Order: sequence, then structure tokens, then C-alpha cells
Amino acid sequence: MALRNDPAALQATLLHEQTRFVAVWQSRCMIGDDDNPVLLPRAALGDGWRNELAIYLGRLAEQHLFAIAVDAAAPAGGPDASQFDNHGRLLALTSADDGALLAYAKGMVEWQQRHLYCGLCGAENRPADGGFVMVCSNAACGHRCFPRVDPAIIVLVTDADRCLLGRQARWPAGRFSTIAGFVEPGESMEDAVRREVAEETNIKVGAVNYLGSQPWPFPGAMMVGFHAAAESVAINLNDQELAEAGWFTREQLAAGAVQLPPVNSIAFRLIEAWFDQWDGARLAELGLSSSFSRSAQSD
Ligand SMILES: [Zn+2]
Repeated sequence: MALRNDPAALQATLLHEQTRFVAVWQSRCMIGDDDNPVLLPRAALGDGWRNELAIYLGRLAEQHLFAIAVDAAAPAGGPDASQFDNHGRLLALTSADDGALLAYAKGMVEWQQRHLYCGLCGAENRPADGGFVMVCSNAACGHRCFPRVDPAIIVLVTDADRCLLGRQARWPAGRFSTIAGFVEPGESMEDAVRREVAEETNIKVGAVNYLGSQPWPFPGAMMVGFHAAAESVAINLNDQELAEAGWFTREQLAAGAVQLPPVNSIAFRLIEAWFDQWDGARLAELGLSSSFSRSAQSD
């Protein structure tokens, strides 16, 4: 039987001294000075947390891991608020695996915190299956709620030897990235690409090709990355989501025309996959990426 479905074994695992906890406080995680996630023993959590809300994440090497929400006013004897890092570092400084672990913990805790009450009848929800289900405590209702992710598209639009990049108003001058937005009900990913690009820049796109994806834990998005071919070139900022947008050649990017997104973001990878199709320098070697994330600015 999976540990998640065995309450007695799960409780014993929770109390085991080798078990470690990923603490989440006000949407922030703990990242050590060595840029690794801080995994706390239970004793280091202090008093103000609730056993039953611990979410079983699984096993990393020999240790079982739980995610746990730290109360709003950091619990007595537990980690200090100053030890929790803001969103930017989560993506900018940790390895892909470490980033995924923290995104997982943070995503689960935030989902739980948003589902403490039943969305159908308003009764209190109780965690089940290691925290992966929130079950309505009203027996007549019994609604079960599962973690979800919100699909979003992110796309690099190209026109021959140029690519389309935009800057949101809250970003510093010179900081540009790809076009992105959430998928709406009833849309395919490809529809969402075409709509977002048209809304933000008035560019029409034709062929849309999938390149890869990245969980984006702000709070529970899944960024699905594409390249798309432009079928028009005149830019108009229709919905004012972007403060400016433009077409950039590889030569312009290589010359430092703009500051690009962080190296380990999918936005950077989309630009890189296009940029590196020439005989010039590799994009990652040019040092053009920024060290903070899109979401560090937006949250
Ligand atoms: Zn209910």
C-alpha cells in the first residue's frame, strides 16, 4: 500500500527522526547560504504548526519529506521569518531538481491553504491521502478536492532572423522576455498562443511548435513553451499588458540590446533554442540574463 494511503504508517513516518520538512511561510521557502533548500528536522519547526496539515511529498534518498505551512507569525522556537527567501531566489539560485522540490512543496501548501473550506457547501475540509486530497467534513456533501495546476503558454515568436520580445511596465528598463499568458477555458494551447500574442502585440502567428514546459509555482501554473512563426510584423500593444515590444536580431541581442530572463527559466530556454541556430556565440555564454524572475516582480 502506498504510504500516502496508510494513515498509521504515515503518522509514524511523520514522527520519525530522519524525516525532514520543507517549511513554507507566506509563500516563501527556506534556501540556505549554499543555495540548497533547507530541510528541517521536526524539532526545528517549533510548536505552532499542525501535524495533520503536513503534506507527504515522498522520499529523497533515505529521507521522507513533508511540506508544512508555518503559521503567519512564525511559530515559537521554529524558523525565523528572515530565513525565508522571496520568490526570485527560488528560480534564480537553486538547481532544477531543488527548484522543482521547492515548487512542489510550495504548490501543495498553497493549494491546501486555499481549500480549507468546501467550495460547494462551505463546511471545513479535512486533509486525506497524505494531504493530496481535501475532503469535505459535511457527510451529506463529502466533496473531494484535488491539487490542480493552471496551464499557461509562453512563446517566442520569430520572423526570419528576428524574435519578438516584450517588456512589462513593472520590469526595469531594458528587461525583456517572451510573451506569456494563461490558457482560458475552451482553448487549446495553440489557440492560447495565438490569442495572447494578438492581444499583447497584434502580431498574427501561424505554425506553433511545442518546445518544453516548466512548473511555475506562483502559485500553481504550468508554463508550456512554444516557438511560433509570425505571419505579420506590425506591433500594436492592444491590451497594454506590455509597456513596449520589439523585434530583435541575434546581432542585437549579442550586443546587449536587452536584458534577458534568468538562465534557468523556460523563457530563456525558448530564446536560446532559437538564438543558438547560428554560427555566432552561444546565448548562455553571453551573460545577458537577469538574476531575478518575472514573478519576483509580479507578486
Ligand atoms: Zn461540502
